[in-house]
Amino acid sequence: MTINGLQKLTLLDFPGRTACTVFSGGCNFRCPFCHNASLVLRPASLPVVSHEELFSFLEKRRGLLDGVAVTGGEPTLQKDLPDFLGQIKKLGFAVKLDTNGTDPAMLRRIIEEGLADYAAMDVKSSPEGYAAACGITAVDLKPVLESISLLLEGRIEYEFRTTAVSGLHTPEDFDAIGRMIAGADRYFIQCFKDSGDVIADGFGAPSRAELDAMLAAARKHVPSACLRGVD
Ligand code: SF4
Repeated sequence: MTINGLQKLTLLDFPGRTACTVFSGGCNFRCPFCHNASLVLRPASLPVVSHEELFSFLEKRRGLLDGVAVTGGEPTLQKDLPDFLGQIKKLGFAVKLDTNGTDPAMLRRIIEEGLADYAAMDVKSSPEGYAAACGITAVDLKPVLESISLLLEGRIEYEFRTTAVSGLHTPEDFDAIGRMIAGADRYFIQCFKDSGDVIADGFGAPSRAELDAMLAAARKHVPSACLRGVD
């Protein structure tokens, strides 16, 4: 597990927890709106946080932090992720995993072995729009749908989320996403914000009216759907 970043405190990344965030480099997608372009495209150019440094930090934060959010990039590309999460759990921290859902076998193992307490999975778009939203020419949706089914079993807390981008998404996409995740406990539509480190330029945030239309479309299938981070 190569760690390319550590945010020592977050009150936002892990619902209900005071947490730190661990960033892993590399991703199998190239979402044009991705706000961590360096982490996805140039992980080797970023400093590495050693495991010794991380675990020494966590030892000192026991009792002060109660969670660790593991994000990317795409953490499931790191083959030793389950062992890494197990080490964090052994120290007594709750674990949140962010994933794009492309490795359901690893996600299943993590759930079955109790290595995560919360999973947040991106659902990028409708089946028709998925490849464009991922910035690649073709996407095999089977593993993504398998990960969705796995989380819908409800064996750990989870959320699905979509970053809504003007020029990439329409309300019809959210109708289709809603069908894909029908029955979900939590679904958040997040509004694109340009972090200054995005993979592709030329995209913008949907208007509030567009976001409301996207939300209404999703709510037909997931009544609990909400906008997140929208004023
Ligand atoms: S948004 Fe997530 S899945 Fe997409 S390129 Fe960035 S890290 Fe990968």
